[in-house]
This record gives sequence, C-alpha cells and structure tokens, in this order.
Amino acid sequence: MAVPVYRFVGDQVLVIGLGKSGLSAAAALRAGGAHVRVWDDNPSVRETAAKNGLDLIAENARVMDGVRAIVWSPGVPHTWPQSHPLAAQARTANIPLICDVDLLLQSQPDADVVAITGTNGKSTTTALTAHLFRHAGRRTAVGGNLGTPALDLETLGLGGTYVLELSSYQLELVPHLACETAILLNITPDHLERHGGMDGYIAAKKRIFAHQRHPRTAVVGIDDSACLEIYETLRRDGIHRAIPISSTRPAPGGVYVEDGWLINAIEASPARIIDLREVPRLPGAHNWQNAAAAAAAALSHGISGADIASGLKTFAGLPHRQEVVAVVDGVTFVNDSKATNADATEKAMRCYDPIYWIAGGRAKAGGIAALAPLFPRVRHAFLIGEAADDFADTLEGHVPLTLYEDLETAIEDAGEMALKEKLPGATVLLSPACASFDMFKSFEQRGDIFRAEVNALWPPATVRTGEGRR
Ligand code: ADP
Repeated sequence: MAVPVYRFVGDQVLVIGLGKSGLSAAAALRAGGAHVRVWDDNPSVRETAAKNGLDLIAENARVMDGVRAIVWSPGVPHTWPQSHPLAAQARTANIPLICDVDLLLQSQPDADVVAITGTNGKSTTTALTAHLFRHAGRRTAVGGNLGTPALDLETLGLGGTYVLELSSYQLELVPHLACETAILLNITPDHLERHGGMDGYIAAKKRIFAHQRHPRTAVVGIDDSACLEIYETLRRDGIHRAIPISSTRPAPGGVYVEDGWLINAIEASPARIIDLREVPRLPGAHNWQNAAAAAAAALSHGISGADIASGLKTFAGLPHRQEVVAVVDGVTFVNDSKATNADATEKAMRCYDPIYWIAGGRAKAGGIAALAPLFPRVRHAFLIGEAADDFADTLEGHVPLTLYEDLETAIEDAGEMALKEKLPGATVLLSPACASFDMFKSFEQRGDIFRAEVNALWPPATVRTGEGRR
C-alpha cells in the first residue's frame, strides 16, 4: 500500500508540478484529508489534471492565503536560473517549499532511512544498497529520484528501511532529512545553473547530513576534493559517525578498494570482503566506489561482510548503465545509453578494448575532446545524431569513422564489423556522450532500441550455432 499523508487533514496544500512525484503527492495528500490545489506551467498538463478531478489554482488569485504547505516538484526550477512566481509568493508568505520525500519521512518516522546522493552513481548505489539489504533479509523499499516516487512506496513502519536516491534538487526541498545513514558519493560540476554556481551545488549536497538521526552515519567518498573537505569537516564535528570510502586508495576507518579487493576497515583491522574483479555487473573503478558506499551502509546497519559478498555477486545491475545485452561469438554488446556526457562515457571506455563505439545525439558542452587518451581503444566509431559532424571532426585522423542517419544501421554495421574481425575482447559499445532528445524520447528509449535491435539481429537461439547474422 502506498504511504498516506495525514499531516494536513483539513488544511490547504498546494502541489506545484504534476509529473510522477507531484501526482503521487497530490493523491497521498487527498487520501489523508488535505484540501489540495495543483499547478503545472504546462497548460495541457493542467487540462488533464482538471479532467482527472484535481482542483487547479486559480490564476491571479491570492493563492497563498490559508496555505499550510507547498509540495514542489524537484524538476521545476524555483530560485535559479530565475525565480518562479509561485515560489516568490511562497517566500513572501513565509511558507517553506517541501517535496514528496519530506512527506514520506514525516509520515513514516519509525522506519530507517538510507539516503543517497552524489553527482554520479546515485541510481546504481541506491539499487545496490537496496539489493544488499534485501539479500540480507531486511524489509526494504527503494525509490525517490530513482523509479518509484517516495509516496508510492509501501508503508514499512518499524523495522523497515527506505533506501532513497536524492537529487540535489530534492535535497533543497527536504527541510529535515531525518535519516540514520546518508551517503555522498562524489561531487563534480553539474546542474550549476539550478544552484547558482558550484558553491550552491555543494551546499545542496551537504544538506544530506544536516538533520540526520542517531547514529548519524555519514558515508562520504574521498576521491574528489569537494567531498574530501566535507568528510574532514564531518569527522571533526564529533556529531557524525563519518565513514570514508575510496575506490583508489586505503581509507583508514572506512571501506575502500585495494588491488580490486573491497576492504572493510570501519572498526577493526582491514578485512577483505570480496574481489570486485569477480563481480561482473559492477565493472570499473567508478562502480567500485558505488560498491564501497553500499557496503559501508550495509555494514553500519549490521549486515555481515559475508552477506555483502554474496549480495554483490547476485546484483543484476541497472539497465542502460554498461548493461551487457548479449555476447555473440565472443563479441560483447553493451548498452550504456545513460552516458549522456563525455565524463560518463569515459568510465565505460576504460572497461573495454577494442571498442566498436556507437556515439552521438544532442551534444553537451565540451564534446568528446576529453576522451582523446582513450581513442586508441576505439577500433571504429559509428556516429549518429546532431553531434555526429562535430564528433567526426574531433576523431578525424585518430579513429576510423562512419556517419549514420539512424541508430539501427549503426548497430548492424558495428556488430558485423566486430563479428568479422573477431578480435579478443571486442565490445560493441553504445555510450553516446550525448543527450538523446534529438532522435529519441529519452535515454531509456535509445537503450531499449539498442537492446531490441541486437537481439533481433543476433537472436539468442542462433548464437549457439554461430549463424546469428542476418
Ligand atoms: P546517477 O543516478 O547519479 O546519474 P547512475 O548510477 O545512473 O548515476 O550512473 C550514470 C552514469 O554515471 C553511469 O553510466 C557511469 O558512466 C557513471 N557513474 C556511475 N557511477 C559513478 C561513480 N561512482 N563515479 C563517477 N561516475 C559514475
């Protein structure tokens, strides 16, 4: 059953932004007896909402009169790059903006909460943490920014654990994030326009530790300078139980990776948990950071190293993040459609050699120049989308390439070439380093097409006979 919200019985509440989380919040509040009025900047979304029986905020009315709370959808900018008129009115009326995660935490005070944020790796770490808890027999619900909106999660009560992915936008909208365990993976520049710059972005991320509940476990990545500084501050404050994690160096008192081994050094002398090189669904040092963070959270909730090791082995991974969709005659096909910038693509490229690289889409600032040190791994580039010409310019003289009108033909040619050349370790990698919106609805749709196309061109049944090609 979804979580009902009884905190505002008989009160006026506004819900701003009617995406998945806004609609779920409106339903939970109405079920709990609140008078809910809604708004979305998109007129057609408003129209649908009205047809579905939701009360719209009347335009130009004194909308803040009598309002007890404003549930703001994290995807709707409120302060930067410009102030939203309703947010400005709320500030004048001194009504704080909150989001569905805040409502969940207030409605479920007896359940444990593990909250997870960071610039990269949030979804993987969230899914992995939930998997480790479930694998160890804990009653667990997982959602937030990932998958299920907070208020659509089941009611857990005492003894249950909510594992929640939180974006920086959500963190700004949870005034009292009472979580036992908070994970901050890493911070690199991102979404700066929404936070008014790097300081605002770091401040939003740091909020995850501001209102923790006993024992205030703070799991912090120490592999970048911003997070290292945050860790040092938390370690010194005497309030938090700060646990450092690293995928690159020993972290005394924490969880880290050394020579591929995941090591627990939280309380005792360092003890090996598992050789991560034998965990196929978590390839690369970036995923080892995610594994260290999830393991630190599990250990601090009393889950044993042995349970963590067996849990890591059975983790299925998330779709679209270095997802192995097929292995055909020794050629591995990897769907990394979630890699929408060069930074993410670099992480995948480091894991494979030689690479038949399918890339392109709507370009992000900086292009792919930063990937130059990895170009020697690319056997051939198959370029699609708006960025194809720019990428071709960068690759020219370094990597052979072909331009394509559509993804399907690029997949077919990449697969044919890899299967013909039969090089050891050959990988056909969709890791676009671009957003998808020029050709697809979403990165998910782009990855789904890749998976379907690979399976259609080289069906699993024919792989065994080596006759999989069309
Ligand atoms: P998020 O939810 O933060 O976007 P994901 O788990 O969905 O993160 O991973 C998105 C992409 O980010 C992955 O495809 C990978 O390229 C990269 N990535 C994953 N984990 C990390 C990490 N710990 N550090 C840096 N990059 C990472």
